[in-house]
Amino acid sequence: MLRNIIEQVKIDQFNEWLNKYESFVIIGHIGPDGDAVGSSLGLWHVLTALGKKVQVIMPNAFPDFLNWMPGSEHILFYSETPEEVEKCIDAADIICLLDFNVLSRIGDMSSLVEKSSALKVMIDHHLHPGDHCDITMSYSKAVATSELVFRLIVQMNLLDKLSKAGAECLYTGMMTDTGGFTYNSNQIEIYTIIGLLLEKGIDKDLIYRRVNNTYSEDRLRLMGHVLTTMKVYPENTALLTLTDEEQDKFNFVKGDSEGFVNIPLSIKNVIFSCLLKEDGELNLIKVSLRSVGTFPCNELAAEFFNGGGHLNASGGEFYGTMEEAIERFEEAVKKYKPLLLA
Ligand code: 5GP
Ligand code: MN
Repeated sequence: MLRNIIEQVKIDQFNEWLNKYESFVIIGHIGPDGDAVGSSLGLWHVLTALGKKVQVIMPNAFPDFLNWMPGSEHILFYSETPEEVEKCIDAADIICLLDFNVLSRIGDMSSLVEKSSALKVMIDHHLHPGDHCDITMSYSKAVATSELVFRLIVQMNLLDKLSKAGAECLYTGMMTDTGGFTYNSNQIEIYTIIGLLLEKGIDKDLIYRRVNNTYSEDRLRLMGHVLTTMKVYPENTALLTLTDEEQDKFNFVKGDSEGFVNIPLSIKNVIFSCLLKEDGELNLIKVSLRSVGTFPCNELAAEFFNGGGHLNASGGEFYGTMEEAIERFEEAVKKYKPLLLA
């Protein structure tokens, strides 16, 4: 069976809150991914089954390929209905902050959370948790926040309250954060968890298809374009770039570049991959980094792109032109050359 990785005092305290309070808000991070949405909805399903009043809130929209997730139709978005979100946060007894470690990851919503007198719990698997919660369940060894929500449910003896719909959400989070269990996925116990989710009746093959095989023709053609212009460096490194102009040409919609950064890692010997993507709206270049093995892309992200993340998956931001961003990236590759060639 599963080991109890969440400390018992934290479980006891959360249980006490559950016995005492009725109104819960669950919040995921900006640019919600499969894990942010999956873990939030997984917890939503269980708390709802317990008869609690629960609202899931995201700072902004999630990609269309997550639309099928049961319960997603009830999510509120701060970018769309800020007043309603503000009311919900004001009325909450408990705020659950899922899949992010620092309040800046929820943007303008952070001040609402900060000034709220609700009790707060963090459930997250990113390194360096901030100190903004009454209970901090932060375990960077977990493959996904969805794994942690599952463990929380088990440790609170609530597994019988997890429905098939809730199990589908948690499976999605674990699947997307590990690229369909192809990286960061050697922890034996996640397969025990998958077994328990299958026992709830989920169809994992169908979930894979729903998430991965729902792209538009434009997206596939954009992928072809981005791969054609890919740069491969002798330092076992590859770089993909995507300007605003290119996005327009391929009728880019949110989520279209999801997963691109992983593709160069399928080249023999390439252990480090970067996607630089212009964001005309925010006026910056979003940096996505991926590595295989021990190459620490989070250190490089912190040093060169004011970012961070996990060893093998991290990101950051760059303010300037695409040419300048590429220059900065090449500086980073030069500095990290010994590690890249090790
Ligand atoms: P992605 O490439 O999918 O946008 O991000 C991968 C991971 O990198 C995220 O799960 C997150 O941990 C981290 N990350 C992405 N962007 C940022 C950023 O701007 N700052 C920090 N600290 N981490 C980021
Ligand atoms: Mn995650």
